[in-house]
Amino acid sequence: MARIHLSNLAHSYSANPTSEADYALKRLDLVWDDGSAYALLGPSGCGKTTLLNIISGLITPSEGKILFGEEDVTHLPTAARNIAQVFQFPVVYDTMTVRENLAFPLVNRGADRDYVRRRVEQIADMIGMSDVLDRPAKRLTADAKQKISLGRGMVREDVNAILFDEPLTVIDPHMKWELRTQLKALHREFGHTMIYVTHDQTEALTFADKVVVMYDGQVVQTGTPAELFERPAHTFVGYFIGSPGMNVLPARVEGTSAMVEGVEIPLGAAYPALSGKVEIGIRPEFVTLSKDGPGLPVRVERIEDVGRHRIVRLAFFGREINVVVPEGVSVSKDMNRVVLEPERIGVYVEDRLVEGQ
Ligand code: ATP
Repeated sequence: MARIHLSNLAHSYSANPTSEADYALKRLDLVWDDGSAYALLGPSGCGKTTLLNIISGLITPSEGKILFGEEDVTHLPTAARNIAQVFQFPVVYDTMTVRENLAFPLVNRGADRDYVRRRVEQIADMIGMSDVLDRPAKRLTADAKQKISLGRGMVREDVNAILFDEPLTVIDPHMKWELRTQLKALHREFGHTMIYVTHDQTEALTFADKVVVMYDGQVVQTGTPAELFERPAHTFVGYFIGSPGMNVLPARVEGTSAMVEGVEIPLGAAYPALSGKVEIGIRPEFVTLSKDGPGLPVRVERIEDVGRHRIVRLAFFGREINVVVPEGVSVSKDMNRVVLEPERIGVYVEDRLVEGQ
C-alpha cells in the first residue's frame, strides 16, 4: 500500500479548454494517507467520478501527476496500478458461482488454493453470503449481485487502494446501513486505503475517517466529520453538511463585531484587517431562541418537529435564520430574539473561512 498524492491535477473533457469553466477538475493538490478511509463527497457533477477515474487510471488527467508513494503512475494503465474498484452497478460473471466470482481476483493472480478458500469464506461471511457461495450468480437479485461486487473489491489484501463509486445505490435501504458497517469493519481489520464516492452526507460521515468535500471541480475542505461540522472552511461545506445547513448572512466586520442589517453581533475573535463586505456563518445548533431576551430581533415563521428536536425557521430583516431547538427546550411562535454563540461564528471572505486573532 502507498500514500497517494495528486499533484497539481486538472482535467478537461474538452480538447481545447479556453476557460476555467471548461475544466471538470480545476487545479488540485491532494494527499490520501496510507490506510485511511476517505469519503469523497459533493453534489452531482462536481467531479467526484472524474477524480476517482484518474486515480484508477481510467482517465489520464490533462495536467498534473499521480504518485503512489514515490512512483509516478500518471501514465500507467489501470491494470498496473494495483487498485480494486467497485462501481455503482454490479459487475458479476453470470456463468460463475458466487464463490468463483469472489475468488476471481485472487485466482487471476495465481494465489494459493487454500488461501483463496479461506479468504473467500471470510469475505462471504462479512457480506452475508456464506449460504449461497455455491449458487450460480445469475439467479441472484441485483442487490445480492452488488454485494458480490463489493466482496470482490475487498478480497485482495495487497492492493494500493480500494475505490468505491456510489456502491450502495442499488442496495435495499435496510441493507445499506449494515453493508456500510461491514465495510468499516473490514477497513479496521485490514487497513486498506479506501476512497468512497457519495453525494449522501450521512453515508460519508458514517463511513469515513476523513471526508474530502468537492464543489465545482475543486476540493473545498478535507477533514474529519467533526471538523467539517465545527469549522466549515467554505460556505458550501457549511451548507452541504448538516441538516439544515449553516446560516450565512452578509455582514461588515469591525474588530470583534459583525454588523448585520445594522445590528451588532459580537464575534469570538478579532478581525482587525478586514474591511468591506464579508459573510458570517453559524450552524443552526449554535443559535439560541428566546422571548424578549438579548440578541437579534426575529420573527418565527415555522416550527417543524423532526422527532428528537425541532427546526425553527426565523425571519430576520427579510433574511432567513434556521435554529435547531434541542429536545426538552420549549419553543413557541411568540419568541422574538436570537443569540448567536460568538465562538461559533465563522467569518467568510469569498466563501473561504478567515481565521481571527
Ligand atoms: P455524479 O455524482 O452525478 O456522478 P460527479 O461528481 O461524479 O457527478 P463527474 O461525473 O466527474 O461528476 O462530472 C464532472 C463534470 O464533467 C460534469 O460537468 C460532467 O458533465 C462532466 N463530464 C463527465 N464525464 C464527461 C465526459 N465523458 N465527457 C464530457 N464531460 C463529462
